[in-house]
Amino acid sequence: MKIGTIASHSALNIVSGAKAEGFDTVLYCQPKRREFYESFGLGKSIVEVESFDEILDLDTEDVIMIPHGSFVAYIGADKILKSDLNLYGNKELLKWEEDRELKSRLMKESGLRVPKEFDSADDIDTPVIVKTYGAAGGEGYFIAKDKEEAISKMDPDEKYGIQQYVVGTKVFVTYFNSLSKERIEVFGADIRYETDADANLRFDEKPSFVVIGNLPLVLRESTLVRYFNMGKNFVRGFEKLNGETIPGPFCIETIIDREQNIYTFEFSGRIVAGTNIWIPHSPYSYLQFGEKMWMGKRIARELKELIEDDALEDALLPK
Ligand code: AMP
Ligand code: AMP
Repeated sequence: MKIGTIASHSALNIVSGAKAEGFDTVLYCQPKRREFYESFGLGKSIVEVESFDEILDLDTEDVIMIPHGSFVAYIGADKILKSDLNLYGNKELLKWEEDRELKSRLMKESGLRVPKEFDSADDIDTPVIVKTYGAAGGEGYFIAKDKEEAISKMDPDEKYGIQQYVVGTKVFVTYFNSLSKERIEVFGADIRYETDADANLRFDEKPSFVVIGNLPLVLRESTLVRYFNMGKNFVRGFEKLNGETIPGPFCIETIIDREQNIYTFEFSGRIVAGTNIWIPHSPYSYLQFGEKMWMGKRIARELKELIEDDALEDALLPK
């Protein structure tokens, strides 16, 4: 089997890791990005596509596809769920990520503390962040200090998700659930930097939360223990609700407030771009493996072990 992905988001991470583990690789790349990926020595892996959703029509039977943030952004969750791509991970999780109700159910079932949610603007009793339904990437959000301000900013014809606004530090922790080693590894942490919510000076009340990039973070070790347990509980929570596990990388997206409460507002059941920071290794992956081990390589190592054990199918869910 080959390892493949689409040329965007964390493709350098994934493809370089697969090559390091001796896999043949495929990088589905648009012509405008070919020169960029060639400059990293990945020319031989490139299969040109005009648009990423063309991969749905190609013969990819011998490719283990590693999904990342651009799959949903450029192909769409619906098409991915219906496709017969050999996707590493559990694609059912896409549904839980997309649907605000399923999402909260999973986070609560996993024992995670979540920001308070308001079904109606009349119940608002804290500062809030108001998320337009279907909005992605932090666009179309606004914040309000109280009920009156929120109501004055809301369009009565629009559907919103209203959440307590948690003041604190945005902490994204990535994990790796290894079926082969039967363990959950905490892989690394980062801070997502967003314009212009993270700008020092801003003069409007409608900051944009569009991601610029990620900053490395090493947590207090006592805090890391808490995250380790959250990761384990998250996988257990999903298994309880869904019946199947989450193979491979996943991320829990949180805000830590001044009392050190950890609020989870989001998760991703796949590699996240924050792991790009940790090439060639994170502090924790170095301690676990005693060698350079970035997320792309970690994925390939796992797949190699599963193939050797004839257990690859367990990691391409649902069955
Ligand atoms: P791009 O190829 O930069 O357009 O990104 C593709 C998708 O991945 C978009 O939905 C982005 O919002 C998301 N994305 C890219 N980089 C990051 C990041 N560092 N953190 C979170 N999401 C990201
Ligand atoms: P989301 O689309 O839910 O991933 O949120 C995008 C960004 O909005 C996050 O990265 C945070 O900066 C911010 N955000 C989301 N939910 C909250 C919350 N409950 N409190 C404070 N900030 C939030």
